[in-house]
Amino acid sequence: MTETRLIDGKARAARLRADVAAAAVALKGSAGVVPGLCAVLVGEDPVSQVYIRSKGKATAEAGLAGFEEKLPASASEAELLAVIARLNADERIDGILVQLPLPPQIDPQRVIAAIDPRKDVDGFHAESNGLLWNGGQSLVPCTPYGCLLLIREAMPDRAGAEAVVLGRSNIVGKPMAGLLLAENCTVTIAHSRSRDLPAIARRADILVAAVGQPEMVRGDWIKPGAVVIDVGVNRRTAPDGKSVLVGDVAFAEAQGIAGAITPVPGGVGPMTIACLLRNTLIAACRRRGLAEPDL
Ligand code: NDP
Repeated sequence: MTETRLIDGKARAARLRADVAAAAVALKGSAGVVPGLCAVLVGEDPVSQVYIRSKGKATAEAGLAGFEEKLPASASEAELLAVIARLNADERIDGILVQLPLPPQIDPQRVIAAIDPRKDVDGFHAESNGLLWNGGQSLVPCTPYGCLLLIREAMPDRAGAEAVVLGRSNIVGKPMAGLLLAENCTVTIAHSRSRDLPAIARRADILVAAVGQPEMVRGDWIKPGAVVIDVGVNRRTAPDGKSVLVGDVAFAEAQGIAGAITPVPGGVGPMTIACLLRNTLIAACRRRGLAEPDL
């Protein structure tokens, strides 16, 4: 039986946020630059409002300048594109974050395409994506980059490792696979049409689950000693009627099999915002041709 180590995403995220804050102080001192992050929110979606508030708080705590643009739910695509054009031209803004989902009258792909790739701190722009796969210098999507930082600590020697990514979304699965390939892993991407998922998963030295299916990955899908990164955030009603968060991995079953695993909550989640702050700082340095810290 393997002893399963808990990967503490909260602690790693706190360290990254402190590193970003220290780098922000240094950047202000050396170049007089305070990186600025603007969150754009269309409509009144309560979940999005909570996200935007916590991102705003984290931005201020890291010593970055936070900006907000709020548009009504009835805003047209042209109105939102005009806001993006203004933010692209605004020297104070280094990162533009458009909170998704957008109302149905707005095409998210057209909006993402309108963001200056140098300010694309979510890393969703096609140029950022292409650069990630080309081995170029790009801003990398926050959630997979956060996963990578956790994987690097849990498995210092990754070259040649079998990595399996469950899920192929543009936001998590695909960029995660690109990042693991760049780490010299042998990468498999599986999805809802893959045959025999348990057998594919069992090959993995590094298993990343990003499917949005509560506890889909069972204990016997996990290779003994594997590093398991659970990206899923699923709400489930417990027997006592309370709502609880569960991941895509059956966490209890993974104990004694996985070598290390992220909990839900407290694993990948806290890394996402920390990586957004990191991307904003990196974007500020790159846009001005300044040396960037290794974060
Ligand atoms: P999407 O719904 O965009 O993608 C889900 C992927 O999983 C798809 O590729 C889909 O396959 C695959 N999938 C779905 N069901 C199955 C199944 N039964 N068997 C195999 N593959 C399946 O989700 P996201 O990538 O945006 O998010 C994934 C999870 O991560 C969600 O729980 C989300 O809440 C969470 N998340 C967490 C974040 C964090 O900060 N912690 C940030 C972002 C997401 P196909 O392409 O074939 O349909």
